[in-house]
Formats: sequence, structure tokens, C-alpha cells
Amino acid sequence: MINKAIVSLLPLVPKSLVWKISRRYIAGTTLKDALECVGNLNDQGMSATLDVLGEDSTSREQALSGEALYQEALAEIDRQSLDANISVKLSMLALRFDEALCIEILQKLIRTAELHDSFVRIDMEDSSVTQKTLDIYRQLRKETERVGTVVQAYLRSTEEDVRALMEEGETYLRLCKGIYVEPEEIAYKGFTEVQDAFLRNLEQMFRGGIRKVGIATHDQRLVEGSIDLIQRLEIPREQYEFQMLLGVTESLRSELVSKGHPLRVYVPFGEEWYAYSSRRLRENPQIAGHVMRNMLPF
Ligand SMILES: Cc1cc2nc3c(=O)[nH]c(=O)nc-3n(C[C@H](O)[C@H](O)[C@H](O)COP(=O)(O)OP(=O)(O)OC[C@H]3O[C@@H](n4cnc5c(N)ncnc54)[C@H](O)[C@@H]3O)c2cc1C
Repeated sequence: MINKAIVSLLPLVPKSLVWKISRRYIAGTTLKDALECVGNLNDQGMSATLDVLGEDSTSREQALSGEALYQEALAEIDRQSLDANISVKLSMLALRFDEALCIEILQKLIRTAELHDSFVRIDMEDSSVTQKTLDIYRQLRKETERVGTVVQAYLRSTEEDVRALMEEGETYLRLCKGIYVEPEEIAYKGFTEVQDAFLRNLEQMFRGGIRKVGIATHDQRLVEGSIDLIQRLEIPREQYEFQMLLGVTESLRSELVSKGHPLRVYVPFGEEWYAYSSRRLRENPQIAGHVMRNMLPF
């Protein structure tokens, strides 16, 4: 209720104040801002993944300008010898109106990633594109190892998807809880139900010999559960990394790094920051609660 109230009041909040709040979670509006942020993270022993803010492009031009920014990002990461790769949303790259164009753009990005010894992660969006995203990932990974995607623990179909993906070949996945609001028929709704599904999926990945998994969570129980699995199953550092969003649970982040776990920070940037922040908050008011809690000094 409180979260929803915060969201409904958002249009009344001056954009400058929303910027102040969002600043912690977004590296800035330009690639230069994002690269500076990556440099700082690298200095603290963390790698990064760059996310150009924006989704649901509606024209070829929009999708291609998104691609251009990612192309520049891959080249600059290499030129500045930074430890980072990129994360892309397929809806930003034309998926919803031209699937062939979307695949073409991805293939170009992957070629550039190969050239710069980097990697392209395909973020997972809402359930209207889950199957398409997995199918595109299946198609692309036949050509390269420079691509991975994301699975969401809250989806009831994920355990079966993971099993099938791993049976078919070398698999690179990020595992997260899932951020979109999905119907109960397809998604677990209980907090502990989603946590349990997360750990079941992770165990399945480790036991099935996944090539590499990004454990994307800030949830203390899941971080501890993951470390327990890593130790019990003697998983080497090359096979996993923790992943966290910029500005979130920074002390947990540092603790993991100090204990020697690989950790990657997701760094969003771009002109679309306001539209992105408001849409996210409207879609999932729980985030508003997180943000407000983080602003309180206790
Ligand atoms: C690197 C990364 C990539 C992701 N990629 C995807 C994706 O491709 N598709 C997708 O559906 N979802 C993605 N997510 C989001 C994910 O699905 C969850 O919605 C999100 O991480 C919150 O879940 P949690 O596991 O951190 O647990 P929670 O229980 O939600 O959070 C644990 C604690 O972390 C803090 N926290 C969590 N999120 C935030 C936030 N946004 N702002 C401030 N504080 C916060 C709070 O203190 C909270 O109590 C990604 C998350 C990460 C970390």
C-alpha cells in the first residue's frame, strides 16, 4: 500500500529530486559517466556489465541507435582496458516488431564482443518474450560462446528450461528472482517459495555442470545459500560470479569481494533514465519501498 502510494505520487516529485534518488542506481546519462563508474568498481576488485537504459523501441532507427551505443561501449571498454561486458534488452533491439532485425543486431554485437574479448548478456524481460528470448539464445550460442541469457526463479517453467538448456550444450546463465509482475498460473508468488526455487535452480545448474552462472541477488539468505552450495559442491571461481545492481547492498557486495568471491556490478546509464525509473516503479512498486528504505538513515 505504502509502496503504491509512493509510486502514485511520483509525477508530483520534481525531476531533479527523482534524479537525486536515482543517481545512486544509475551511473549517469553518458557512456563517459558509465565508464568512469566501471573504472571505480574495477579499482575495488569488481567487474561490471553495462546496460544502456531503454526498452520497447518502436522503430528500426531507435533499435539501431541502441546498437550504436553498445558498439561504442564495447570498443571503449577495450580501449580503456576495463573489466566489463554488456547486458542488452531485446525489446530495445527491435524484438517486438522485427525479430530478424533483432537477431541481426545481436549477431553484430557478438562479433564486436569477440573482437574485444568480451561478452553479451541478454537480459530477460516479461513472460510475453520468455520463449522468444530463450529461442534466440539457443540459436546464437550455436555460433559463439560470447553470449548468455537470464532465467527468473519465480517462473514455474524455469527449472525445466534450465534442464533442457544444459542438456543441449554449454550454458551461460544469470539466475535472478525476476522483476516483472506475472500471473500466479506461471509464477511463484510467495517470498520463500521464490527463494527456494532460486536455490533449487542454482543447485541444478551446479550439479549439471553449467559453464558459468551469474548469481544475481542482494538477498542475504540467497547469498548464504549460494555460498553453502559453492563450498559443498566445490565449485571453482571460474564457474560462478555474484552479480548486484549498482547502488544496492554495497556492504554485502564488499564483504563478498573481501572473501574472494568474483562479483560483477550491473551499471545502467543513458538519457532514458527518467522514463526507465518511473516505468520500473509503476510496474513493481516494491522497488519504491527498497529505495525509500535505503534513503532512511536507519
Ligand atoms: C545483476 C542483476 C541483473 C538482473 N537482471 C534481471 C533480468 O534480466 N530480468 C529480471 O526480471 N530481473 C533482473 N534482475 C532483478 C531481479 O530479478 C530482482 O528483482 C532483484 O534483484 C531483487 O531481488 P533480490 O534477489 O535482490 O531480493 P530482494 O528480496 O528483492 O532484495 C533483497 C534486498 O536487496 C535490496 N534491494 C533489492 N533490489 C533493490 C533495488 N532495486 N533498489 C534498492 N534496493 C534493492 C533491498 O534491501 C532488499 O531488502 C536483476 C538483478 C540483478 C542483481
